[in-house]
Amino acid sequence: MLKLLIATGNKGKIKELRTLLAGLEVDLLTPGDIGLDLDVLEDGQNYEENAGKKARAYSQASGYVSLADDSGLEVDALGGAPGLYSARYSPKPHATDADRRAYMLENLKGHPRPWKAHFHATIAIGTPDGPTLFAEGNCHGEIIPTERGNNGFGYDPIFYIPEMNATMAELSMDDKNRLSHRALAVNNAIPALRKLMKF
Ligand code: IMP
Repeated sequence: MLKLLIATGNKGKIKELRTLLAGLEVDLLTPGDIGLDLDVLEDGQNYEENAGKKARAYSQASGYVSLADDSGLEVDALGGAPGLYSARYSPKPHATDADRRAYMLENLKGHPRPWKAHFHATIAIGTPDGPTLFAEGNCHGEIIPTERGNNGFGYDPIFYIPEMNATMAELSMDDKNRLSHRALAVNNAIPALRKLMKF
């Protein structure tokens, strides 16, 4: 069975990716499972460069096929920010997810609503000595000024999906894993994963 390393230390992403990949006949590993503690500098110019860099670094360090995700939230009224920098979007040195949400709402003050936004995810699958494969997904919604819901992570409590009349943090894991940018990107990556499973 193909051993597939989830190339991230982000617990929220690991939880979602485990569920999203559960239907595939692969043996999922996390960096913790194999005692790997890698910190990859995300200095790419776009999601693909960062995801590819992470997938290749984990794959080369472990010898396993590795799946990395680079994702972000793009807010129209902020000119597409924070985008690639979503994980680091705050002037505070040791900012939490809550600090980043508060900073975003601060920056949106004065902009007319609705604050249209979308999450983007690029998945990269790195192989130790072969090519890196890519897939993408987007999820559209809007930012709301008051937090709602306790599920998920990151910007989920302020990301509202009109069709669901719910924020991402109010969705069940099943619903998030049907609709999210990461879910769509993983679905688009499945044909590439199936090809690798044959080897
Ligand atoms: P990176 O892919 O490690 O650069 O981090 C992406 C950042 O985007 C995360 O740390 C979150 O702040 C945000 N983000 C990505 N996906 C989600 C999601 O599904 N929900 C909420 N925030 C997310």
